[in-house]
Amino acid sequence: MYNLSGKVAIVTGAAGEHGIGRAIANRLAQEGADVVITDIANDPYRHDPARWEGASAVVREIEEKGRSSLCVLVDVSDANQVDDMVRQVLDRFGGVDILVNNAGARPGPDRVPVVEMEEAAWDEVQNVNLKGTFLCCRAVSRHMIDRGKGGKIINMSSTSGKHGRALYAAYCASKFGVRGFTQSLALELAPHRINVNAICPGSVDTERVGYILEATSSEDISAESWRTSEHRQAFIQERARNIPLGRMAQPLDIAKLAAFLASSQSDYLTGLSINIDGGAEMD
Ligand code: NAD
Repeated sequence: MYNLSGKVAIVTGAAGEHGIGRAIANRLAQEGADVVITDIANDPYRHDPARWEGASAVVREIEEKGRSSLCVLVDVSDANQVDDMVRQVLDRFGGVDILVNNAGARPGPDRVPVVEMEEAAWDEVQNVNLKGTFLCCRAVSRHMIDRGKGGKIINMSSTSGKHGRALYAAYCASKFGVRGFTQSLALELAPHRINVNAICPGSVDTERVGYILEATSSEDISAESWRTSEHRQAFIQERARNIPLGRMAQPLDIAKLAAFLASSQSDYLTGLSINIDGGAEMD
């Protein structure tokens, strides 16, 4: 549908089995791109290795589509590691055309009232979600500007980046920040034909939702057991009731929008923060 042949993409936070990053990486590869998989650990959710091998499994999926891939483990909140990651990508592929800043801090100690929040919990969310987006954008934009062939940058915000939510203060602040950063960077990079847009999903059925419920639910739900628990179906059904299109998002829904924004079909869009939430919020 979108011709990404000959393009090289970096997707951060792409090692989770049920994550948005893995879905985006696979979708970009399906459209023809070579895809670099990055995450803080090979298997950040420490699954049973006999069932899910983490980033190496995503690399294999991409290679099975006939595309090239590379896994680089990187903490996106560390400038040296990010710069080194981009250097490794340039050494291997010679250029970067698409950057997807998908990595997000794991929900946990930040999901409390502001008056109870530890400074470290606040910092962790800003460091990964906002500073990590800045560092990856900085490193890749420098290369894209020097190379002079344009590019596509896609930042993951959230509908929680459009309105505040109780128990989400650190997360909302970071995702509002991603939107402001996206607009500023879009203006700076427009003369270089580099498009910068943000995606704002509502709830998406990933591992992350288990961690959110573990941190915020009054019920005894463990993140690890969530995917196979009865709570998951109940949660999905409950969410669907408030979504005009009648279902909670799956990672593939987000990946399809990312593929569009990574393609030449979106050449005249920049600085946008696009909701993808089944019609739940319309501004
Ligand atoms: P996820 O938590 O499964 O994915 C985030 C990934 O980022 C994980 O693989 C994690 O290991 C990685 N990561 C965390 N800290 C890192 C660091 N310091 N360096 C590098 N990688 C790091 O979540 P997901 O649901 O797949 O979400 C992906 C993105 O979409 C996140 O930015 C999230 O905020 C956003 N989002 C998710 C939802 C949702 O409901 N799932 C809704 C709106 C926005």
